[in-house]
Amino acid sequence: MTGLSDSFQRPINYLRISVTDRCNLRCLYCMPEEGVRLLPREDILTYEELRAIVQAAAELGVSRVRLTGGEPLVRGDIVDLVAMLSSVAGIEDISLTTNGLLLAHNARRLKEAGLHRINVSLDTLRPERFQRITRWGKLEQVMAGIQAAREAGLHPVKVNMVVLRGVNDDELLDMARLTLSGEWHVRFIELMPFGSLQDAATCGEARTALQFVPVSEIRRKLEQLGTLEPVKDRLGAGPARYYRWPGAPGTVGFISPISECFCSECNRLRLTADGKLRPCLLQDKETDLRQCIRQGATNGHLQEVIRQVVTLKPESHLLDQGRSPLARLMSQIGG
Ligand code: SAM
Ligand code: SF4
Repeated sequence: MTGLSDSFQRPINYLRISVTDRCNLRCLYCMPEEGVRLLPREDILTYEELRAIVQAAAELGVSRVRLTGGEPLVRGDIVDLVAMLSSVAGIEDISLTTNGLLLAHNARRLKEAGLHRINVSLDTLRPERFQRITRWGKLEQVMAGIQAAREAGLHPVKVNMVVLRGVNDDELLDMARLTLSGEWHVRFIELMPFGSLQDAATCGEARTALQFVPVSEIRRKLEQLGTLEPVKDRLGAGPARYYRWPGAPGTVGFISPISECFCSECNRLRLTADGKLRPCLLQDKETDLRQCIRQGATNGHLQEVIRQVVTLKPESHLLDQGRSPLARLMSQIGG
């Protein structure tokens, strides 16, 4: 195994795969209520195709895979995909990001198939607010999903809260307090601008600039509960920085793509549900792996294309120059 690294000497060992652009919710910062135009089913990579891509990437040094979407648990037999990927030599860690609605039913099977860890999106602890943010979701289903994931041994279960000014920022302390009483790992995420989010007519409630809350402000608020201590152990492959209050069983994490850009530590590639490999979440550049694979590319050829995409990784995103991704929404790339 050679190990992949990009033009800026960053090791690349992490692949995030969007397994579907479909979702059973419409979170107001992610999708318009009417949904988005869906990919034709035949354009979505099959599990065999995904396995071939993961195998090629693993032989180049990718050892971690995250399944996301859209909502990955709405894709049929997702458990089979986890089993297929967990048998690929070199893949040491498989994780999944979900809205949690279908998790209670799937947690044990996912664990048995080889899933290691799970992240659940949870922007509020209030049922009515949950329904408003997700447009129709039921909070109790997500809580049952989190419980089931814990019981199944999917460890650690991390919770993602996208912080929106005037929508859920009055719950920062409530979310953080969870970490004082149990093994909760709560990550606070800055709102990112995507395609239609900039178009107030399309995504009425989510006006990024008005709703954006920087991590520095979130952290200041949390320190009302006491001084946070950095957590030394790594809690994942991602960009979050973790802290805890002394003696607390859980942790809080901060993900600050905008205010404290972490591009210099970026170790990932992203694969969209229709097989486009992206070197960066926040830029529209893509390479069509589906076409390669459907034209009969060998494992060696796939590896060559993956290497090329790695060389295209930009040094950093260009949001501070007002250049945000326009071609796809977060749900169409895989968050
Ligand atoms: N459906 C799954 C879920 O909600 O966890 C997986 C896909 S979702 C696109 C992945 C993550 O992206 C979620 O935690 C979601 O909150 C986050 N997300 C979506 N749109 C975002 C945005 N504009 N800014 C920041 N995070 C966003
Ligand atoms: Fe669906 Fe996840 Fe986007 Fe919410 S954040 S609309 S659950 S893809």
